[in-house]
Amino acid sequence: MIPKKIDEKTLELLNDLQTDFDISFEIKDIDYCEVFQKSKTVTIYYNPKIVNSESIAHELLHIWLNRFNYSIGNHIFLSTQSDKKLSKFLNKFLCDYIGNCCDHYKMYPKYLEMGYSPKEFLKNGLELKTSIADIKKIKLKFLGFYNSQSINLFIGCLFSILADHIKENDYTEHHKYLIEKDSKLYNIVSDFWKKWEAFDIENIDPIYNSDLELTDSLIDGLTTWVNGETII
Ligand SMILES: [Zn+2]
Repeated sequence: MIPKKIDEKTLELLNDLQTDFDISFEIKDIDYCEVFQKSKTVTIYYNPKIVNSESIAHELLHIWLNRFNYSIGNHIFLSTQSDKKLSKFLNKFLCDYIGNCCDHYKMYPKYLEMGYSPKEFLKNGLELKTSIADIKKIKLKFLGFYNSQSINLFIGCLFSILADHIKENDYTEHHKYLIEKDSKLYNIVSDFWKKWEAFDIENIDPIYNSDLELTDSLIDGLTTWVNGETII
């Protein structure tokens, strides 16, 4: 059942997407909305007590991005699972998270265009996405070995601040601490992000504007970075 509270703008997007996808709604006792998608069949779960147009619009915008047919998180996961070193820190959770951050960046302009506020884009939308304390806790190397969980955390933290849609949030210190911890890893991730910001999802082309090539540049950077290192 379609949530009663959703407004015309979100309904419009829903109707538009229904031409390509089979979208249904289900009630669930959750804090926010969730989406489950299998090819063209989509289920959006929501809690009627707290649902609003913005949270439904958010999930619909993830579906909308499917039309551009790019692959980031999944591509990273599938191309690195046979790599002994990279697979230690690029787990499914982190790859999905990276994909989500990339999605959010590309759907946010349309979300604003629909007339919604930055605060409602994400749960706790205005807050800082990572704390200095969390970053300080990351110990990348111990006795000369890299710790896979810490690499995972480093990359996740950096993506969370790069992808924050609230431009007023000041991450100067966060960036400083991350650079101090590992400037090479920092540059690999932030270079990828800069390219993603500039990437034109509306004109994907296997030669001139390829999402896979872009994602492979991140994987290549990480492969070079781990070369000669031991990761435990
Ligand atoms: Zn999302």
